[in-house]
Amino acid sequence: MIKDAWDIIEVKSSTSIKDINLHDISFQRLCAENAGLKINRCFLAFINNQHVRNGDINPGEFFTVQDVTEQVDAAAEGIQDRIKEMQAVIASRICPEVTIGECCRTPYDCPVTLCRQGLPENNIFDLYRGGKKCYQMYYDGILRVADIPDNYKLNRSQEIQRDCDNSGLPILILKVSGSLLVKLGLRFTI
Ligand code: SF4
Repeated sequence: MIKDAWDIIEVKSSTSIKDINLHDISFQRLCAENAGLKINRCFLAFINNQHVRNGDINPGEFFTVQDVTEQVDAAAEGIQDRIKEMQAVIASRICPEVTIGECCRTPYDCPVTLCRQGLPENNIFDLYRGGKKCYQMYYDGILRVADIPDNYKLNRSQEIQRDCDNSGLPILILKVSGSLLVKLGLRFTI
């Protein structure tokens, strides 16, 4: 143990440890160390989804606290170089050349809309809960939902959306059972 050192405990509202949390802590640790603090161990506190509340909340049971120091050490590999790269991008007056891809939604949805401005209306990224498959179809050259070939696996809602786009019929959004939102074509089937 390092003398006169602090532990970092990052508290998250998730129920498991995510890669992004480790990178987050590694950056926080670097900031703390650069500010002159000594850091001993790193912990992640996340919600114990097995906990059943009985009376007052007991934080010791509500949270699972896990020592993630070794994982943070691994995540911190090359952090100085990554920071330099990011600072260079921030300082640049020219947008970096990156194509639309998984990075647009992982680990979070990117708020930049500029990159998609050239896409047609009802494009592939409008596919209902399209997720990763949107990017695969985009790389395959499919730009519009209406152009998705039959051999692509779609769920029922997505098929309805594609058929509506093809037929030009409007899509209605109905609230079902007070909570379930379903996109329906005029030929709806529930
Ligand atoms: S949408 Fe965001 S992450 Fe995706 S290419 Fe554009 S700037 Fe990058």
